[in-house]
Amino acid sequence: MGLFDVHAHLTHPELAPRVDDVIANARAAGVTTIVSNGLNPTDNEAVRALAARAPIVKPAFGFYPVDTVLREMEAMGVDYPRDVPPVSAEEGVAWVRDHAREAFAIGEIGLDGYWVPEALWDAQEKVFRALVAIALEHDKPIIIHTRKRERRALEILDEMGAKRVDWHCFGGRVKLAREIADRGHWLSIPANARRNEAFTRMLETLPRDKVLLETDCPYLAPEPGQRSEPAHVAGTAAFAAELWKCSEDEVRARMSDNFAALFGAAP
Ligand SMILES: [Zn+2]
Repeated sequence: MGLFDVHAHLTHPELAPRVDDVIANARAAGVTTIVSNGLNPTDNEAVRALAARAPIVKPAFGFYPVDTVLREMEAMGVDYPRDVPPVSAEEGVAWVRDHAREAFAIGEIGLDGYWVPEALWDAQEKVFRALVAIALEHDKPIIIHTRKRERRALEILDEMGAKRVDWHCFGGRVKLAREIADRGHWLSIPANARRNEAFTRMLETLPRDKVLLETDCPYLAPEPGQRSEPAHVAGTAAFAAELWKCSEDEVRARMSDNFAALFGAAP
């Protein structure tokens, strides 16, 4: 019985140079599967290459919601603190379409109203719908990032009939998280859950068959200032055992079943 990280960024510049050590640490902590998420064509290529040489890594191909309108944001002079190669919406979607067959999941994709100005929300939605359609066409699970636009993302997913969906690092209200779980979607809890009240409450109160573990590494480490990595899901599993008043083996068994239900694969 293994542990797994359903949302990692092993190709992030902070992790990539020491990725073999990061994977060894994960293995030592009992992690058997790491779903590494791509953000744009260049990053998707890196995820793909890593997964090809490290079987513990499963490739999720995506188009980060901010990246989908990055060119337009630049043209508008909107400030965005990330150095990514800007590609057109068409280019980003085409990459995912061309490689969907070999994807373990499609993600991360979604809607972001925090960085993206409202004038670009329609354009962002259009790309999101195109990516969801690709996932549905290929019967792939979807990994969602959304910020400030959770309700709208749920409306679109419902309308399009997407069922195998994981909401990563859900930042909306806990009440909406429960509504999402009742719809049959999953929510993955990051490794900072112990020091984050909303994630603690989600872990405690969401239906247990709808919870998964993730890290979003290198972000959201268990301790402030620490660099996150997939090995940290072991700490979240221990925390879940405390909250659920059960053994860690029971948590692992539960998470394994949930993983299989969403991804249609053994962890
Ligand atoms: Zn992410």
